Amino acid sequence: MNIPMVDLKGQYKKLKNELDSAVISVMESGAFIMGPEVSAFEKESADYAGVKYAVGVASGTDALLLALIASGIGKEDEVIVPAFTFIATSEIVVRAGATPVFADICPKSFCLDPEDIKRKITKKTRAIIPVHLYGHPADMDAIAKIAAENNLMIIEDCAQAQGALFNGRKVGTFGAAGCFSFFPSKNLGGYGDGGMILTNDSKIFETVKGLKNHGSFERYYHKLHGFNSRLDSIQAAILRVKLKRLNEWNDMRRKAAHKYSDALKDTIYTPPFEDPRAKHVFHQYTLKVPAKRNELKEFLASKGIASMIYYPVSNHLQEVYADFGGKKGDLPVSETVQDQVLSLPMYPELTDEQINYIISSLKEFQDRELTK
Ligand SMILES: *Cc1c(COP(=O)(O)O)cnc(C)c1O
Repeated sequence: MNIPMVDLKGQYKKLKNELDSAVISVMESGAFIMGPEVSAFEKESADYAGVKYAVGVASGTDALLLALIASGIGKEDEVIVPAFTFIATSEIVVRAGATPVFADICPKSFCLDPEDIKRKITKKTRAIIPVHLYGHPADMDAIAKIAAENNLMIIEDCAQAQGALFNGRKVGTFGAAGCFSFFPSKNLGGYGDGGMILTNDSKIFETVKGLKNHGSFERYYHKLHGFNSRLDSIQAAILRVKLKRLNEWNDMRRKAAHKYSDALKDTIYTPPFEDPRAKHVFHQYTLKVPAKRNELKEFLASKGIASMIYYPVSNHLQEVYADFGGKKGDLPVSETVQDQVLSLPMYPELTDEQINYIISSLKEFQDRELTK
């Protein structure tokens, strides 16, 4: 049996008629940049999360970058980010002219550790970027409290967690801005790059609208140092079709995840943690493997089962940040977790048969390799 990490083709086949006609209608309209499909999708995205404003941009990375710049963060400023995340979270801090300060994560949720945030605050700290990694919300109670006490902004990286809840509230609504990615494999994925910024702050909203369009509010009059970072109308049309299914798909992911976790209860593998205050949307289903993680990955591959290591090197140890002074031993939880995590196939349409096959392969490896 061959089981991929995600199955984008299967999902397309199911929605083919609706998606094809959405794309064709954009092509027939001739409105490809910032047309009515984009405005409609922005409104639907704001309504979905329960915020006032939404601005479509060219990618999740740009959503973070533009939100940071629109919040006035730049030179001389420090921004606290988790070390264990996709590189974009810290990349954009440098691009905005500020300095990323890497903090450690909680060993269970894999999200920012509030205690380590406190240790990393200096006079220069201006913002915190919590990442809701793998679809599990960061501890927004504790992070919001720290931010309020220290007068820091929160910009949420929601790229992996669209639709996730913390205390019944959607991620992306806790801070100054929530940033989303529509990279094809994300929970709400387009057929190319795309991103979205959500905010209740009218100043951030207005600034981002200008930034994404060459710093212009009136054609050929430029007020800001801008970007070309707009969401394509074709992507917006596709995403409007898919947004209607997002809750259903997230629930299907949760069902598949709970099947995995129930079956793995009495094994040496640690299934993902779910904070009782959180609704996890399982962008990834990620195990902790106590030993021989890389061998397990190869074993699964030999059985036709895809798996991935997100992420093998914490960002404070990445070559690109060599000048930032990070060294081995600085962030022990991130450094332990990077050697243990293994993400298994996860998508809404994952079948019981596929899950059972993956589980029996995991157990076979355990019995052969890990209990000696
Ligand atoms: C995917 C991702 C991004 C970047 O999104 P793009 O749309 O690929 O630019 C940022 N942060 C995290 C945590 C991501 O997973």
